[in-house]
Amino acid sequence: MQAKDLVKYLVIVTKATRRMGIIVRSFASREKPLSYSEDNIFAKILRGEARAAKVYEDAQTFAFMDAMPQVPGHTLVIPKYPSEDLFDIPPDNLAATIKNVQLVGRAVRAAFEAPGIMIAQLSGRAAGQTVFHLHFHILPRHHGLELKFHAREFEDFAVLESHAQKIREQLAHIKS
Ligand code: 5GP
Repeated sequence: MQAKDLVKYLVIVTKATRRMGIIVRSFASREKPLSYSEDNIFAKILRGEARAAKVYEDAQTFAFMDAMPQVPGHTLVIPKYPSEDLFDIPPDNLAATIKNVQLVGRAVRAAFEAPGIMIAQLSGRAAGQTVFHLHFHILPRHHGLELKFHAREFEDFAVLESHAQKIREQLAHIKS
């Protein structure tokens, strides 16, 4: 290789490396995942554009009844941070969300007198995720009461609201 070809090669490599650095830095500092869609139903609920039977809210999280419950009391806890799944949320936001999965889980357990609680989190279509805003399912479980199919049948909003009310009462009790 001649000296001028070597210089040309080094210039190309230097420019490419700099460009990669810019891409990596802008990816690391992004405010939301590149694929996150603001059109998903949970984003609409957070913006108040779709109704939900609300159970709990704080600065970083929101909890509400699943509209197609697999058992009575099926509740969802979501971060307000726009994350698509478990892997694109900053650890602090995730920690705040999990803390409230425990809090709301306690209230669901008491409200539905459940001997068991199942927590589910589906990340990715292959895992069965259907709404692409991170969420944790809280499902009260009783011996002999099987789960209905996932995301199949809408419950009456009045029923969801009455379940939310039962859970809110337990939360008030727990937090007092
Ligand atoms: P995934 O399949 O993503 O783990 O769970 C999404 C959940 O969202 C399902 O359990 C489904 O029943 C619930 N869901 C879907 N659409 C709505 C809706 O419009 N409102 C509420 N509250 N839940 C919904």
